[in-house]
Amino acid sequence: MPLSEELDSVSGTTAGTVDRHGTAGTFESTNPATGAVVGVFPVHDADAVRETVEQARAAAERWAALGFAERRLRLAAFRGYLARRVHELADLVHRENGKPHDDAILEITLAIDHLAWAAAHAPRTLGPRRVRPGLLAANQAAYLEYQPLGVVGVIGPWNYPVFTPMGSIAYALAAGNAVVFKPSEFTPAVGAWLAAAWRAAVPDVADAFQLVTGYGETGAALCRAGVGKLAFTGSAATGRKVMATCAETLTPVLMELGGKDAMIVDDDADVVAAADAAVWGAMSNAGQTCIGIERVYATSAVYDRFVSEVTRRVGDLDPGSHERATYGPMTMASQTDVVRRHVADAVAAGGTLAAGGTVDGGYVAPTVLLDVPESSAAVREETFGPTLTITRVADAEEGLTRANASSMGLGGSVFSGSTARAMDLARRMRSGMTAINSVLTFASVPALPFGGVGESGFGRIHGEDGLREFSRAKAITRQRFPLPVDLLSFSRPAAAFDALARVTGLLHGRHR
Ligand code: NDP
Repeated sequence: MPLSEELDSVSGTTAGTVDRHGTAGTFESTNPATGAVVGVFPVHDADAVRETVEQARAAAERWAALGFAERRLRLAAFRGYLARRVHELADLVHRENGKPHDDAILEITLAIDHLAWAAAHAPRTLGPRRVRPGLLAANQAAYLEYQPLGVVGVIGPWNYPVFTPMGSIAYALAAGNAVVFKPSEFTPAVGAWLAAAWRAAVPDVADAFQLVTGYGETGAALCRAGVGKLAFTGSAATGRKVMATCAETLTPVLMELGGKDAMIVDDDADVVAAADAAVWGAMSNAGQTCIGIERVYATSAVYDRFVSEVTRRVGDLDPGSHERATYGPMTMASQTDVVRRHVADAVAAGGTLAAGGTVDGGYVAPTVLLDVPESSAAVREETFGPTLTITRVADAEEGLTRANASSMGLGGSVFSGSTARAMDLARRMRSGMTAINSVLTFASVPALPFGGVGESGFGRIHGEDGLREFSRAKAITRQRFPLPVDLLSFSRPAAAFDALARVTGLLHGRHR
């Protein structure tokens, strides 16, 4: 029986463990295209969340004790399990989130690739190593290693219900932690599927990855449940609440928040390629992408051509829930209100609507707004819909200044014919990640860290930084032989410090 059917058959529970816990009722997740119920899930209360974290804590000790090689085998089994069921999981993502099946496959494939990278690179990134002790501790052997935190709490959004939480889950597990995952109330079935897949693929340490479901209060309970770190992905508004709750227990946090990513199109850019990338970067997944392109700054030299390429391509898009749909409905119906408000504000402020601007049920037409004042909500706030503002700028430098004048800084893109120029702009873009002559590609490179600056959050998932994010550095020194003069002892001779001052003067004093 496919895993999703097994899950359906245990409606009212999720991953097979959660029915042991106390709940405060149930809630439904529904298909945003049809309204059909996808699953019924428990609302876990604070006691249930604490009990789950305690079970995970016991499993965390066993999981950590396995060591890198044994964990890698089990993470490979998890990866294999997911890879053999890509279509089944993609179908569930399509039903619960609304995105086309093909987009779901892309998302799942990326998550599997990250899982493989994290497992393979954990030993070298985190494992014990010797470091140079330096002159003052020449008699010491110095060791550095990165130890797991215990249980990591992961709170995730609904827009990429596999890829986004797996960015934390995969790296936290590979670093030797257990994970308790609270998926968004809009995509609990996908979360339950992932947790059940883990239990099936890794039965001997099944409790190392557990699930709790519910609303914001369940997430807040996870913050208070004694986890070693809370990895949050979601909006800045909720991120503030999560930080405040975690502050009660000094629980460290990782914040992956929203973006208002910009693309700069330079004088010598390949305009056709830039337009194609901008449309996909802005409209795919119905624009519900944290690193989606929301603003374009095109230089005067290319602006007219770029606008005409974008509007032509947008005309070919076909939102819906049918087989060949280019994107689906808004996952969260209330998001259409935000899109409407931003479009109305942009037009009222003097912007021009070049395409779209309409909402039909849960579907937002692909929308292009031209030369919207920078003070408008459509430029300042995250829209999270299939919309794009295009603004004429004198040159790429002005584009960069405008791109950087945002409280958020997650990703971004530069299209330019000159590698040197593009690299310079990319380095100076105030964002955690920038793609040159493409969009979003940094997310598909497992070795690259993923995360933002400013109101886009802090901390990193993916890459070596992502592995270290879920570990604590442990320093150990071992005395190899005693020094004739021990400076860290009350028996030290007073003259030793004159000698020390002289040596320090010789070594460092010549630097001015
Ligand atoms: P929200 O901030 O609304 O919710 C995120 C998660 O937090 C959900 O699981 C939610 O549960 C939970 N939550 C809500 N209230 C609380 C609380 N008080 N304490 C603890 N947890 C709580 O974000 P969305 O789900 O709407 O996701 C969209 C946002 O995520 C966008 O801003 C997007 O840019 C951002 N995002 C960022 C990414 C990144 O890597 N930087 C990647 C993907 C998305 P519930 O749903 O049950 O209310």
